[in-house]
Amino acid sequence: MDRRVRKFIRLTTVAVLAALVHAAWAEESSASSVPASAADASLDVLRQRLAERLSTKKVDSTVKVVAKAGKGDQGGGSKDESARSRKKMAEPKPALALASPVVWGYAGAGAPEHWANLSPDNKLCALGTRQSPIDIRDGIKVELEKVQFDYPPSAFSVIDTGRTVQVNLAAGGSLTVMGRRFELVQFHFHRPSEERINGRGFDMGVHLVHKDAEGRLAVLAVLLERGRDQPLVQTIWNNLPLEKGEALKAPGLLDVNQLLPEDPSYFTYMGSLAEPPCSEGVLWMVMRQPVQLSANQIDIFSKLYPMNARPVQASSGRLIKESLSR
Ligand SMILES: [Zn+2]
Repeated sequence: MDRRVRKFIRLTTVAVLAALVHAAWAEESSASSVPASAADASLDVLRQRLAERLSTKKVDSTVKVVAKAGKGDQGGGSKDESARSRKKMAEPKPALALASPVVWGYAGAGAPEHWANLSPDNKLCALGTRQSPIDIRDGIKVELEKVQFDYPPSAFSVIDTGRTVQVNLAAGGSLTVMGRRFELVQFHFHRPSEERINGRGFDMGVHLVHKDAEGRLAVLAVLLERGRDQPLVQTIWNNLPLEKGEALKAPGLLDVNQLLPEDPSYFTYMGSLAEPPCSEGVLWMVMRQPVQLSANQIDIFSKLYPMNARPVQASSGRLIKESLSR
């Protein structure tokens, strides 16, 4: 072989080897950079989790403020109270809970007829004249403006409060009515419905609790009747926590619009929290058209809370407005 040819082959071999070594090094260095980017990713995950926990706490504390200011509006415990107190005795941490032996609920010593006696703060439960719920009848039919709903998909957590199943929502959803914007804080379920319409009760009801910037409350009630599966209810039931009292952050986002009936007409009146301390000045809107959920979905709630509805209260001549029929 020619000497120049041999030199060419030698140089080419060296170049190819160098290229191979470089490639191998590049691969290894990129491989060694994987742990670094994985570390970044897990840091991001941690940051995100922290942010989520903080935002959940924020929602929870909002709800707590709501409840404290007398607006939670949920059902009361009942048969679960004894189980709960047993649990409390087994895990002795809440000195606070031991200080108030009778907890409000829907049966026994904490039943609605005793609410006013449980605390001086609850006077209105017995003495108020603008209490909720009511049997809605004799409303005046007028052209009510449509409620403007703005419920974007929202992060949510589900909590079994011991009196109802409640869904806490991330900030962002709201409704606007009479020029006022109320932010959606939480919604929860009752069985049977607390509201009646011309004497008729419904299998279940859901209360969407809203609060405006001044702290005024607006509750939108949707009546639920036996029928086909309700997708949003199913999502909530799928995410029911196993333990009471702990908000369980659910994966994904919730589209609260799925809870609204097609017919936008509604009844409206001024009422109260339907739970202690029964504070008044709450704007109620009750959607006229019920939404369906399946018998199985009702049964699941019934296993937790067979009855968590306050009886209807005297309407005492209050004005009730009703959308004109379509
Ligand atoms: Zn309620």
